[in-house]
Amino acid sequence: MRPKVMFFDTTLRDGEQSPGVSLNPREKLEIARQLAAMKVDVIEAGFPVASAGDFEAVSVIARELKGITVCALARTDRDDIETAAQALAGAENPRIHVFISTSPIHMKHMLRMTEEEVLELAVRSVRQARNHSADVEFSAQDATRSDPDFLVRLFTAVIEAGATVVNIPDTVGYTTPEEMAALVRKVRLETPGIDKAVISVHCHDDLGMAVANSLAAVAAGARQVEGTINGIGERAGNAALEEVVMALLTRRDHYGLDVTVQPRAIGGLSRIVSRLTGMPVQPNKAIVGRNAFSHESGIHQDGVLKERQTYEIMSPTDIGLGESTLVLGKHSGRHAFRQKVAELGYAELPEEVLARAFRAFKDLADRKREVSDDDVRALVEDAVYDGVPEAYSLKSFHVSAGNDGQPVATITLSGPEGEVTEAACGDGPIDAVYRAIDRATGHGYTLLEFSLNAVTSGKDALGEASVRISAGDRPFLGRGVSVDIIEASVKAYLNAINKAASAGEGGT
Ligand SMILES: [Zn+2]
Repeated sequence: MRPKVMFFDTTLRDGEQSPGVSLNPREKLEIARQLAAMKVDVIEAGFPVASAGDFEAVSVIARELKGITVCALARTDRDDIETAAQALAGAENPRIHVFISTSPIHMKHMLRMTEEEVLELAVRSVRQARNHSADVEFSAQDATRSDPDFLVRLFTAVIEAGATVVNIPDTVGYTTPEEMAALVRKVRLETPGIDKAVISVHCHDDLGMAVANSLAAVAAGARQVEGTINGIGERAGNAALEEVVMALLTRRDHYGLDVTVQPRAIGGLSRIVSRLTGMPVQPNKAIVGRNAFSHESGIHQDGVLKERQTYEIMSPTDIGLGESTLVLGKHSGRHAFRQKVAELGYAELPEEVLARAFRAFKDLADRKREVSDDDVRALVEDAVYDGVPEAYSLKSFHVSAGNDGQPVATITLSGPEGEVTEAACGDGPIDAVYRAIDRATGHGYTLLEFSLNAVTSGKDALGEASVRISAGDRPFLGRGVSVDIIEASVKAYLNAINKAASAGEGGT
């Protein structure tokens, strides 16, 4: 049997620290469900002491997800660890993740502590965490700029105190594959009791080496890799988990290691994370970029048509990005729809999401002749997105616009105080309808970003609108899909407003 590499996903914690990203507990639960279906080994669900929303997200995920380790982050403060333990109370397999900085620069300027003080605090915190959970991970923040001998001394002490995982973070994305491999080897060979703990790595991508550093660590004996879907995270982001997974699977001949993550879930998860965080995936991104499996050159196309493997080292179908053969139309039922969704790589969606997506599909099939795979993907992602309580819902709207006068919009919304109808003029049809919505809700939100994309090609393409608004200094993303671009834009704006309202931010 080959040794196994465990995957620790921190999309919901480190990934959510990406600038401009803010996920509500409900969105985090949807992502966590997909991660569980993909069979990652550990989900780091949040940093409970950081905010009430983080605490709620961790406790909901801990209660709902079974058969997977749910982890919560804590500093070495007593309160942090108690709060993490409380948030994890409902978890089947809880893990408390304690961290403290260990590099001279962090210890001197941030902690103002000596090595001995750091070591003592680390041991005390791991003991405290062990009182609540049999599984405790210890991270030496900025490990790659720390004194390797100090790291070994520290890891020896925390393992003796009960740590089950010792993590080597390249917090600032500074290390190289050779250095990382040497550090992992040193920890493995010189730390007494290391056989009682798993060696983990957590790499950042500031020099574009996060995935390479993670793989070098694994080759040197690390058995847990931390990362995020699409590589999102602070600054340049974290190691992209899907890249590490596919490298280990595609080059099993080289690494000789086992992975139990299901790659078929990657495509769907990548899209859902991109939608919910509002962080687009670059087209040429490895594994999940739109162009990752497109062949443009004539020679390449010719080769792939004759034999795929001439220019393809992986199959898009393995990653859940292939086209499915099932054709959907007006008469397709729930069963066919469910099968299609599964073929497209969306694993174990909750019934309510499937039901919402199916209703939207029936609606679309009435308005459009052929429903494509991309349409179905958009409907599913829209349904996932939609789990926000609707303070305001759309009843009807009318817009008149042309090149010979000012556009005018009328909108009727059903809101907390009943139905309201308002009208407004604007610089364009969307501006007019957004102004009417502002009047009807009585709020003025700042529109930070607006974009409109065609999901598919052709005149009856499904349009997808995304907006980012600011309310109470927090960003909220909204998204809407429709064959009518103004309707998609209205849905997107209302979606963002409903999220702001459910987070208690009323706008100005
Ligand atoms: Zn990090």
